Amino acid sequence: MVYARKAAPDCPFQKRFPSQLIRDDVFYMTLAYNEAIDAWHSNEVPIGAVIECEGQVVGKGSNQVESANDPTAHAEMIAITQAANSLEDWRLNKATLFVTKEPCPMCSGAAIMSRLGRLVYAVPDSKMGGLGGAFDVNGYPGMNHTSIIDKGVLHDDCLELIQTFFRLKRESESEGFDKV
Ligand SMILES: [Zn+2]
Repeated sequence: MVYARKAAPDCPFQKRFPSQLIRDDVFYMTLAYNEAIDAWHSNEVPIGAVIECEGQVVGKGSNQVESANDPTAHAEMIAITQAANSLEDWRLNKATLFVTKEPCPMCSGAAIMSRLGRLVYAVPDSKMGGLGGAFDVNGYPGMNHTSIIDKGVLHDDCLELIQTFFRLKRESESEGFDKV
């Protein structure tokens, strides 16, 4: 008998459409939140990222580890690659990355390697966070670049999204696996 991966639980959250006129941190984090909802619909841990440069979105991504079967397909990695392509420059020192959860050490490292100017995350991660939650890649002495880090923007909404996803997954998985 073969067991298939359970389908994504129904997402009780809706995408949001903030005013284009006020392009503040909440605006860009809301776009990252919408990317996280895309991840949920693909049955991925709902994490999303958006990169802003001089008032424009130049990169965005949602977590695709399961669908791409790629452990590096985190939202931030996808957004960083897209931003470097669209700016035709791997140096992102004028850009800000908005992500719904504190980046892991891999993505924190990629942010430093891309010389990202600023990084804003919503929810801290004390288990795997790479920006002070568990490790501090950005604060490591001797780094040839450091980014400005801000946190807490849209914290409650992004936390609720992730926690609800895992709760509904646990509930659906305790009902057993789909048989194929
Ligand atoms: Zn990551």
